[in-house]
Amino acid sequence: MLKKILFFLSTGILAMFLLTACSESSTENQTDDKVQVVTTYSIVYDIVKNVGGDLVEVHSLAPIGSNPHEYDPLPEDVQKTTDADAVFYNGLNLEAGNSWFDRLMETAGKDGDDAPVFRMSENVDAMYLTTEGNEGEEDPHAWLNVLNGIKYAKNARDGLIKVDPDQAEIYEQNAADYIAELEQLHQEAIEKFNEIPEEERILVTSEGAFKYFSDAYGFRAEYIWEINQENQGTPDQITRIVDIINDEGIKGLFLETSIDPRSMEAVSNETDVEIMGKVFTDSLGEPGEDGDTYIKMMEWNINTIKEGLSE
Ligand SMILES: [Zn+2]
Repeated sequence: MLKKILFFLSTGILAMFLLTACSESSTENQTDDKVQVVTTYSIVYDIVKNVGGDLVEVHSLAPIGSNPHEYDPLPEDVQKTTDADAVFYNGLNLEAGNSWFDRLMETAGKDGDDAPVFRMSENVDAMYLTTEGNEGEEDPHAWLNVLNGIKYAKNARDGLIKVDPDQAEIYEQNAADYIAELEQLHQEAIEKFNEIPEEERILVTSEGAFKYFSDAYGFRAEYIWEINQENQGTPDQITRIVDIINDEGIKGLFLETSIDPRSMEAVSNETDVEIMGKVFTDSLGEPGEDGDTYIKMMEWNINTIKEGLSE
């Protein structure tokens, strides 16, 4: 009798075990069907997501609201990067702080010549830093010119087709639809900014992230410091921008969402020039809030800058 009970119990357990094993492997297969993608920060995440649609599952490294110039990958990031079918990064020195990206690629075994690692800024005409100590280094903020955003979308498309050629048609179609929206956004930006007299198109932000933007939309970009790194907002940097603001009679300042507000607040206090609003540079907004996609963050920036400089 006891033997019989044990037999039933063990077959029962075996059956349960088999059932769980089956259902686990079937959910695994479902995620396996998707192309596993890792991106370095939220803006590249959103562009890749738009081109990849339902065919991709994307994990973004530097969290929303953070500064992707410097990042300390978590154990989960290393695992996901190791397992990824494709990695997309900005390039142009963005992920260069402490060499965090190169070191991650090495740890994740994705540093070989054939590794599926794609640079979103491929074919972008690089602009360069000018401040002492950084002269000649590439400025990473190419995405703030929507025409470069279109190049990013094309690079996302080409990378995804390379790792998942069977679905090429879908990636082509998604990219074409998305690029059409970006082209329209670029035209809207030009039309809106044309309403601001050219001599009043001076943009003051904390980091000098608006070089590409300014080049595209006829602005002059001013800043407290040129690029995020150590020594941000030093007394010398503050004095320099305060002089420029006073000399040029600048009417409004702008504050990035991914940057400590204290330096810009100090500049505002010293010059009596108001901070006209927040702008998105190195990060999207939180999901469900302002600027939570690349298109929305650019629309937000265009409207905020247009209104701030029109008052
Ligand atoms: Zn930046």
